[in-house]
Amino acid sequence: MTSDSLKLKAIAVRAVPYGESDMIVTLVGVETGKITATAKGCLKRGAKLRYAAEPFNFGDYVLAGRNGRYVIVECSQIENFSGITADINCYYDGCLILDALARLSEEPSPEVFLCALKALAALAAGPDDPSAVVRDFLLGALEAGGSSLDFSKCNVCGMLLDGEAYFSDADGIVCKHCVGEHAIEIDAGTRAFLAGESGGETVGIRANIRLIELVYIMLGVKINTRFLTEQI
Ligand SMILES: [Zn+2]
Repeated sequence: MTSDSLKLKAIAVRAVPYGESDMIVTLVGVETGKITATAKGCLKRGAKLRYAAEPFNFGDYVLAGRNGRYVIVECSQIENFSGITADINCYYDGCLILDALARLSEEPSPEVFLCALKALAALAAGPDDPSAVVRDFLLGALEAGGSSLDFSKCNVCGMLLDGEAYFSDADGIVCKHCVGEHAIEIDAGTRAFLAGESGGETVGIRANIRLIELVYIMLGVKINTRFLTEQI
């Protein structure tokens, strides 16, 4: 035997069928970041490790293999966030979290991993405002990437913001007096939602699409907005 084994605490973020009965599973591990592994025979009736290949599964995985070619040999489930599927919008938001977690985990990031776990648990519990859960996750991801944004006050003069604001990569979130060239306008409703001052699904979805643009500008990571536009 020359095969190595690798233990990791991970979330399954994606799974695609492969061959007759296998699945190729994308896992994000706390310590490993993104990693892919095959779940052998998991599409067969009564397959023991089927759940290990289900997106949203969080567990202690044991993989065999090396150099990026791994097979799932064991998984002890910690949580499956099954409540997420109870509401279609929570489900879409959950899919967004998984997609974002994968894209933000090319390098391991325990901080982003924890933000994702927290968000999935909140979505599974049936939140009053699922958009606020997505917002908090995205703000947490920015913070983990060293690019915190505060939508409640101007990053230049410190004035409390009321109404619209502006964003630029150089200055962050600023008021209308401090705005420089090439800034992006953040309308009043979007700013209030992103500052945590107001809620609501309609403004929340639009605001989160805006926030995803800012994540792309600041971290260079493009999160799929499809899961949000599907909800409009
Ligand atoms: Zn200002």
